[in-house]
Amino acid sequence: MKLVFATSNSGKLREARQILGEGYQIIGSKEAGVQGEAVEDADTLAGNSLLKAEYVRKALGPGQICFADDSGLEVDALGGAPGVYTARYAGEECDFDKNMDKVLRELGDLPMDKRRARFKCVISLLKDSESYVFEGNLEGYIAFQKRGDKGFGYDPIFIPMGYEDRSLAELGEDLKNTISHRFKALSLMRKVLEEL
Ligand code: IMP
Repeated sequence: MKLVFATSNSGKLREARQILGEGYQIIGSKEAGVQGEAVEDADTLAGNSLLKAEYVRKALGPGQICFADDSGLEVDALGGAPGVYTARYAGEECDFDKNMDKVLRELGDLPMDKRRARFKCVISLLKDSESYVFEGNLEGYIAFQKRGDKGFGYDPIFIPMGYEDRSLAELGEDLKNTISHRFKALSLMRKVLEEL
Protein backbone atom coordinates (compact mmCIF):
# COMPACT_ATOMS: atom_id res chain seq x y z
CA MET A 1 0.00 0.00 0.00
CA LYS A 2 1.35 3.42 -0.96
CA LEU A 3 1.07 6.13 1.70
CA VAL A 4 2.23 9.74 1.50
CA PHE A 5 3.76 10.88 4.81
CA ALA A 6 3.36 14.67 5.20
CA THR A 7 6.83 15.34 6.56
CA SER A 8 10.27 16.52 5.56
CA ASN A 9 11.79 15.21 8.80
CA SER A 10 14.15 12.42 7.75
CA GLY A 11 14.13 10.91 11.27
CA LYS A 12 10.35 10.53 11.26
CA LEU A 13 10.40 9.06 7.73
CA ARG A 14 13.08 6.50 8.61
CA GLU A 15 11.18 5.43 11.73
CA ALA A 16 7.81 5.16 9.96
CA ARG A 17 9.36 2.97 7.25
CA GLN A 18 10.87 0.65 9.84
CA ILE A 19 7.76 0.54 12.03
CA LEU A 20 5.24 -0.07 9.22
CA GLY A 21 7.61 -2.50 7.49
CA GLU A 22 7.00 -4.55 4.40
CA GLY A 23 3.74 -4.04 2.61
CA TYR A 24 3.86 -0.26 2.91
CA GLN A 25 5.57 2.13 0.56
CA ILE A 26 6.06 5.37 2.51
CA ILE A 27 6.75 8.45 0.41
CA GLY A 28 7.76 11.78 1.97
CA SER A 29 5.87 14.86 0.83
CA LYS A 30 8.84 16.33 -1.09
CA GLU A 31 9.41 13.02 -2.87
CA ALA A 32 5.68 13.03 -3.77
CA GLY A 33 6.16 16.46 -5.41
CA VAL A 34 4.48 18.62 -2.77
CA GLN A 35 5.85 22.18 -2.63
CA GLY A 36 6.08 24.05 0.69
CA GLU A 37 4.68 23.03 4.04
CA ALA A 38 1.56 23.64 6.11
CA VAL A 39 1.63 26.53 8.58
CA GLU A 40 1.38 24.79 11.96
CA ASP A 41 -0.70 27.35 13.80
CA ALA A 42 -3.16 25.11 15.63
CA ASP A 43 -2.87 25.04 19.42
CA THR A 44 -2.88 21.25 19.78
CA LEU A 45 -0.80 18.40 18.36
CA ALA A 46 -3.97 16.89 16.89
CA GLY A 47 -4.84 20.19 15.18
CA ASN A 48 -1.37 20.53 13.66
CA SER A 49 -1.22 16.95 12.48
CA LEU A 50 -4.54 17.41 10.69
CA LEU A 51 -3.31 20.69 9.09
CA LYS A 52 -0.22 18.90 7.75
CA ALA A 53 -2.17 15.94 6.35
CA GLU A 54 -4.78 18.21 4.74
CA TYR A 55 -2.07 20.38 3.13
CA VAL A 56 -0.59 17.35 1.38
CA ARG A 57 -3.93 15.93 0.37
CA LYS A 58 -4.96 19.28 -1.11
CA ALA A 59 -1.74 19.36 -3.13
CA LEU A 60 -2.02 15.77 -4.39
CA GLY A 61 -5.76 15.30 -4.71
CA PRO A 62 -8.13 12.88 -2.99
CA GLY A 63 -6.81 9.71 -4.67
CA GLN A 64 -3.81 9.46 -2.31
CA ILE A 65 -3.80 8.09 1.22
CA CYS A 66 -1.95 10.67 3.36
CA PHE A 67 -0.91 10.81 6.96
CA ALA A 68 0.92 13.30 9.17
CA ASP A 69 2.62 13.12 12.55
CA ASP A 70 2.74 15.94 15.05
CA SER A 71 4.82 15.14 18.09
CA GLY A 72 5.70 16.93 21.28
CA LEU A 73 7.65 16.62 24.48
CA GLU A 74 5.84 17.40 27.76
CA VAL A 75 7.95 18.05 30.85
CA ASP A 76 5.94 18.05 34.09
CA ALA A 77 8.28 20.44 35.96
CA LEU A 78 7.89 22.93 33.09
CA GLY A 79 4.09 22.83 33.26
CA GLY A 80 3.87 20.63 30.14
CA ALA A 81 6.28 22.73 28.01
CA PRO A 82 7.60 22.60 25.34
CA GLY A 83 4.37 20.80 24.25
CA VAL A 84 3.01 22.18 21.02
CA TYR A 85 6.19 24.35 20.69
CA THR A 86 8.56 21.35 20.81
CA ALA A 87 9.98 21.88 17.30
CA ARG A 88 10.88 25.55 17.88
CA TYR A 89 11.33 25.75 21.64
CA ALA A 90 14.53 27.82 21.51
CA GLY A 91 13.10 30.25 18.93
CA GLU A 92 12.85 30.51 15.16
CA GLU A 93 16.61 29.98 14.60
CA CYS A 94 16.71 26.91 16.83
CA ASP A 95 18.10 23.47 16.13
CA PHE A 96 17.93 20.17 18.02
CA ASP A 97 20.92 21.12 20.22
CA LYS A 98 19.59 24.56 21.16
CA ASN A 99 16.19 23.09 22.01
CA MET A 100 17.72 20.42 24.25
CA ASP A 101 20.03 22.97 25.90
CA LYS A 102 17.04 25.12 26.79
CA VAL A 103 15.20 22.21 28.47
CA LEU A 104 18.36 21.17 30.37
CA ARG A 105 18.97 24.75 31.49
CA GLU A 106 15.40 25.16 32.69
CA LEU A 107 15.47 21.92 34.69
CA GLY A 108 18.88 22.75 36.20
CA ASP A 109 19.85 20.17 38.82
CA LEU A 110 16.33 19.05 39.78
CA PRO A 111 16.53 15.43 40.99
CA MET A 112 15.50 12.57 38.70
CA ASP A 113 12.07 12.11 40.31
CA LYS A 114 11.23 15.74 39.39
CA ARG A 115 12.30 15.28 35.75
CA ARG A 116 9.24 13.30 34.59
CA ALA A 117 8.36 13.81 30.93
CA ARG A 118 6.64 12.15 28.01
CA PHE A 119 6.69 12.17 24.25
CA LYS A 120 3.32 12.37 22.54
CA CYS A 121 2.64 11.52 18.93
CA VAL A 122 -0.61 12.28 17.12
CA ILE A 123 -1.11 10.82 13.66
CA SER A 124 -3.85 12.04 11.31
CA LEU A 125 -4.76 9.71 8.45
CA LEU A 126 -6.84 10.86 5.47
CA LYS A 127 -8.34 8.21 3.21
CA ASP A 128 -11.12 8.96 0.75
CA SER A 129 -13.43 11.33 2.60
CA GLU A 130 -12.61 9.91 6.04
CA SER A 131 -10.14 11.15 8.62
CA TYR A 132 -8.76 9.15 11.53
CA VAL A 133 -6.65 10.17 14.55
CA PHE A 134 -4.22 7.93 16.46
CA GLU A 135 -2.19 8.76 19.55
CA GLY A 136 0.79 7.22 21.30
CA ASN A 137 2.73 8.25 24.43
CA LEU A 138 6.13 7.31 25.79
CA GLU A 139 6.73 8.02 29.49
CA GLY A 140 10.18 8.79 30.83
CA TYR A 141 12.58 11.29 32.34
CA ILE A 142 14.83 14.11 31.16
CA ALA A 143 18.50 13.19 31.58
CA PHE A 144 21.05 15.53 33.25
CA GLN A 145 23.02 15.85 30.03
CA LYS A 146 22.88 14.77 26.37
CA ARG A 147 23.83 11.14 25.85
CA GLY A 148 24.21 9.08 22.68
CA ASP A 149 24.25 9.91 18.99
CA LYS A 150 21.42 7.86 17.48
CA GLY A 151 17.88 8.97 16.62
CA PHE A 152 16.94 12.63 16.25
CA GLY A 153 15.42 15.61 18.04
CA TYR A 154 15.34 15.33 21.82
CA ASP A 155 16.38 11.64 21.87
CA PRO A 156 19.75 12.35 23.60
CA ILE A 157 18.04 13.81 26.70
CA PHE A 158 15.05 11.43 26.96
CA ILE A 159 15.33 8.35 29.16
CA PRO A 160 12.32 6.06 28.67
CA MET A 161 10.72 4.60 31.80
CA GLY A 162 12.23 1.20 32.54
CA TYR A 163 15.57 2.07 30.89
CA GLU A 164 16.75 4.12 33.83
CA ASP A 165 20.26 4.92 32.69
CA ARG A 166 20.06 5.04 28.89
CA SER A 167 18.66 7.73 26.59
CA LEU A 168 16.77 6.96 23.39
CA ALA A 169 19.87 8.11 21.49
CA GLU A 170 21.90 5.44 23.29
CA LEU A 171 19.26 2.71 22.95
CA GLY A 172 19.13 3.18 19.16
CA GLU A 173 16.26 3.16 16.69
CA ASP A 174 15.77 -0.62 16.51
CA LEU A 175 14.75 -0.63 20.17
CA LYS A 176 13.14 2.83 20.10
CA ASN A 177 10.87 1.67 17.27
CA THR A 178 9.40 -1.07 19.47
CA ILE A 179 8.49 1.19 22.42
CA SER A 180 8.10 4.74 21.15
CA HIS A 181 5.16 7.15 20.98
CA ARG A 182 5.43 6.93 17.18
CA PHE A 183 5.45 3.11 17.24
CA LYS A 184 2.25 3.10 19.33
CA ALA A 185 0.40 5.61 17.14
CA LEU A 186 1.54 4.03 13.84
CA SER A 187 0.61 0.54 15.08
CA LEU A 188 -2.95 1.77 15.67
CA MET A 189 -2.97 3.28 12.16
CA ARG A 190 -1.73 0.04 10.61
CA LYS A 191 -4.51 -1.89 12.36
CA VAL A 192 -7.15 0.42 10.84
CA LEU A 193 -5.53 0.26 7.38
CA GLU A 194 -5.60 -3.54 7.56
CA GLU A 195 -9.29 -3.48 8.52
CA LEU A 196 -10.10 -1.11 5.67
P1 IMP B 1 6.77 18.38 14.66
O1 IMP B 1 7.47 18.16 13.35
O2 IMP B 1 6.01 19.65 14.74
O3 IMP B 1 5.99 17.17 15.04
O4 IMP B 1 7.96 18.61 15.65
C1 IMP B 1 8.23 17.77 16.62
C2 IMP B 1 9.59 18.05 17.19
O5 IMP B 1 9.64 17.21 18.32
C3 IMP B 1 10.72 17.61 16.29
O6 IMP B 1 11.33 18.66 15.63
C4 IMP B 1 11.69 16.99 17.27
O7 IMP B 1 12.54 17.96 17.79
C5 IMP B 1 10.81 16.50 18.38
N1 IMP B 1 10.49 15.09 18.24
C6 IMP B 1 9.42 14.51 17.64
N2 IMP B 1 9.49 13.18 17.73
C7 IMP B 1 10.63 12.93 18.37
C8 IMP B 1 11.27 11.72 18.72
O8 IMP B 1 10.82 10.61 18.43
N3 IMP B 1 12.42 11.85 19.37
C9 IMP B 1 12.97 13.05 19.70
N4 IMP B 1 12.44 14.21 19.38
C10 IMP B 1 11.27 14.14 18.71
